[in-house]
This record gives sequence, structure tokens and C-alpha cells, in this order.
Amino acid sequence: MSHVTKPARRSNAKEGHKSLVRGFIGGEWVEFSKRETGPVYNPSRGEVIAEVPMCTKEDVDLAVESAAGAFPAWRETPPVERARLFFRYRQLVEENFDKICASVSREHGKTLAEARGSAYRGIENIEYACSAPTLLMGDTLENLARGVDCETMLQPLGVCVGITPFNFPAMVPMWMFPLALVCGNTFVLKPSEKVPLTALLIIELLEKAGLPKGVLNVVPGGRESVDALLTHPKVKAISFVGSSPVAKYIYETGTHNGKRVQANGGAKNYVVVMPDADVTRTVEALSTAAFACAGERCMAGSTAIAVGKAAERVLPTLVEVARAIKVGPTDVAKSQPDMGPVITAQHRDRVFSLVESGAKEGGKIIADGRGVKVPDAPNGFFMGATIVDQVQDGMTIAREEVFGPVLNVMRMDDLDHAIEAANKSAYGNGAAIFTDSGKAAREFKNRVKAGMVGINIGVPATMAMFPFTGWDESFYGDLHIQGKEGVQFYTQQKVVSTRWFGDGVGDVWKK
Ligand code: NAD
Repeated sequence: MSHVTKPARRSNAKEGHKSLVRGFIGGEWVEFSKRETGPVYNPSRGEVIAEVPMCTKEDVDLAVESAAGAFPAWRETPPVERARLFFRYRQLVEENFDKICASVSREHGKTLAEARGSAYRGIENIEYACSAPTLLMGDTLENLARGVDCETMLQPLGVCVGITPFNFPAMVPMWMFPLALVCGNTFVLKPSEKVPLTALLIIELLEKAGLPKGVLNVVPGGRESVDALLTHPKVKAISFVGSSPVAKYIYETGTHNGKRVQANGGAKNYVVVMPDADVTRTVEALSTAAFACAGERCMAGSTAIAVGKAAERVLPTLVEVARAIKVGPTDVAKSQPDMGPVITAQHRDRVFSLVESGAKEGGKIIADGRGVKVPDAPNGFFMGATIVDQVQDGMTIAREEVFGPVLNVMRMDDLDHAIEAANKSAYGNGAAIFTDSGKAAREFKNRVKAGMVGINIGVPATMAMFPFTGWDESFYGDLHIQGKEGVQFYTQQKVVSTRWFGDGVGDVWKK
């Protein structure tokens, strides 16, 4: 892009060194020196592994201008060609899969198995985007009126933006840019300042796959860069994933500035366990739902509601399983723990204090991971699996998203009260029920106030072809991420009605 000034020289920073995180603008890797920076940690060791620049409004302007400049040519690129880029990209992601997962484990703290699982969810989004030529087909109706035909066309919006959270460094960006790009938009990605390294790695692969200059740009940073994106006149749409207060702010500010916004927020997901539930399978699913990814996922099953005798059937084994979860550093491929650290020391302290509040407000801690020791990584941000029983409605820990390896247990006499308790939540991301009763399951799925429901499935997170349907404070906007709604979000419809009058030039019609 000739009108884009390169902010700085190409960085030769290598992974493994404490380096300044780069940006990507107009097809160039750029180093934003002389900006404020923030630390990127390896949470398994408590060590700073990189510094992330806090990009300014001027940096954002360059990125948006670059995307805007690339838009006319990219929108004219046939969808089959845009899809081919993503076929090549998929292949490269697969070939570099171990490297991507190692990066996720290193900067986020997920175990390698968790990193692989989440990266595959990302790949499925690339695969979905590869069907662009079909996804972008419109409808036609012949003879809307005599001699008039009508058709719909799905056209791109222009410059779209992705702002992502820390907890899925590869997957969440892949929820956004593959679909946005195959729909013909150009893009600016603002990755989480806590985990920017994986985002850059996956964009390097996109560059290798043949991304034209300026079609996707990356600006690392925090609030200033987000605000500049929210108010930039050339930005047409914003996809956001993060906590609810920020999601609300993004939605309000973005829409106020005339942008289309989809903003996924936080969650508090309830898992109802009926007395007839299969104990072994329920315990396995509950412990995964609550403790996998150290509880740092928006679809974590963070509250179990035990109905009737379910508590005495399930809790003793669940406590044993929780206590046996091995916590440790995730950055050594050969010896993987069951659970890694949480993202920062500050976040761990917050989770500790929420558990403490649970005890003070009447809960009973029946598995306590706060004292966990990890001798081979003494500075890591670790916490063991924790279960707080006897949680009551209104307690701080019942209300707030904990986002750590903590399971609340509430006890209810019947399904009605269980559904009522779950439906009091301000959030509405996911909910699940474990039961052998089709009638109970049916009642639950119809009445529970959540956008994604699992029946004997603990984490009913949707895959690429289905929308990620958070409700209430888990989502601000109209069109969700992923699936057909994702395509609708990244396109605008045009309806064309056509009629022709003349016979044209020459004697071409049968007399
Ligand atoms: P976060 O809200 O702190 O940050 C998300 C993004 O917003 C980051 O890129 C950050 O730089 C930016 N940001 C943060 N504060 C901002 C502010 N005041 N103004 C402007 N921008 C700001 O979220 P997080 O801690 O990175 O991620 C965890 C949260 O994300 C949890 O609440 C989790 O439930 C949620 N989440 C939701 C989903 C979903 O699909 N609903 C998926 C993953 C994570």
C-alpha cells in the first residue's frame, strides 16, 4: 500500500526471547517501538516472555487505511479464489499445528491437549470459510411481477475488526477473520495483549498462504487501540469476544458510531444433575466442564445444581476426581499435567478471593486447590481444582463469573427450582442437564434461559457451522459469531429487481 507509512523496520525478534511483539500492516511486519508496553507472561513460570506495545490511534489509523485501501481489489476477487487462499491456509495451519499449540500452551497455560482441542475448533472455522462460494449464494425469484425478476446478492461491508480475549489465543481470532475475509471484507485484528504471540503466528501462516497486502492487519494494544477502532469512520463492523462489561461498552460505543457489532461477553453456566444421572459419566463430564482449561472458558460449567439425591450420588466421587487433578507447567511437551496455570497472578488472586467470599457467605469448600504447590515451577500462577458446596443464590460467588478452576454446587429439591435458579443468572451462554429422563431433558431444554444447551453434554459449545448463541449479558448484538449468522454479519444484502423493455438492436427475435 503506497499510502501506508511503515511505522518501523521489520523485527528480527525470535520466539523464546523477551522481544517486542510486532504488528502487521499493509503486508509488512512492523515494530512499534517507543510505545508504552505491557508484559506477556508464560504463566507456567511466572516469567515475562515478551513485551506488547500499546498501539496508539495513529497506529490504528495506518492499519485501517491499509485495510480500506486493499478492499476494492479484494472485494472483486472471486469467492472461489478467496476460498482457495483458505484451503492453502488450512493446510499450513495443519502443518504447523504443533507449533501453534506449543505457543498457546506457553503464553496462555493450556495443556497441550487443551490447546489442540481448541485449535481444531479454529481449523473447523477455516473449513467452514472454505465453502464461501456456496455460503455467498443469493436467492432469485423469476416473475416477481410479469417480466420482472428479483435476486438477492450478499455483498461485503468493507473494513471489519476483530477484538479478542486471552483465553483462546488461536481459536477466537479464527472465529472471525476467515469468514470475514472470504465474504470479501478486509480486516484489522486487535489480539488480546495477554496472548498476542499465537495471533501473530497464525497470521504469519496466512501471509505464507498468499494473503494480498493490506487485506488483514494486526495492531497489538489495549484500550487506546480499541477506542480508535470503535470510532474510526472507515470501520464498518466489529466482532468482539471478552468480558461482559467490555462487550457492553464495545456494543454501545460501536453502534453509537454507526458500526455493526457482535459482542460476546462472559458467562456463568449451570449444569443440572438429576438423581437418575449416570454417575461415572456425569462426574467425568462435570470435572471437564468445570476444570478443563483451568476453568478459563466462557462455556465452563461453573455451577452444578444437584437435584434431590444427586448430590450424595455424585459429589463424593467428584471431590476425589478434583483432588486427583495434577496441576503443573504446560510448557514441557514430555510431561503434561492435567491442568495448567491461570493467566496471571492477579487473576489467581481474584479467584482466591471469590472462593474466600464463598466460604464467608455460607458456602462449604469441599475441595480446596488454593494451597497447591508445584515444586518444579514455583513461580507459576497455579491453583488446584476447587469445589464450593452449599452455594446459595445471592452469594458473590453465585453471581460473578469466576473464570478459574472452581465449581459451585447448589442443591435443589426438584427440577422446577433448578431451572428457576439457573434462569436467575444475568448471563445466558450455556446450560446442561444430566439425566436419563427424556421428559426432564425436554422440560429443561424448553425452559432454560441460555443460548446453548447440552443434554448429557457438559460443554455444549457450538462448532463452526452453528452460531455461538449467547443470550442476555453473554451477548450484545443481533447476529452471532459462526454459522449462517456469521455470514449474515459479514455481508449486506442487496435485492435487485430487473425488467427489460426494448428488443435490443437487430432482428434477433422470431417474428
Ligand atoms: P477482556 O474483556 O478483559 O478483554 C477482551 C478484549 O478487550 C482484549 O482484547 C482487551 O484488550 C480489550 N479490552 C479490555 N478492557 C477494555 C476496555 N476497558 N476498553 C476497551 N477494550 C478493552 O476479556 P479477557 O479477560 O481477555 O477474556 C476473558 C473473558 O472473555 C471472560 O469473561 C470470558 O467469559 C469471555 N469470553 C467469552 C466468550 C464468548 O464467546 N462468550 C469466549 C471467550 C471468552
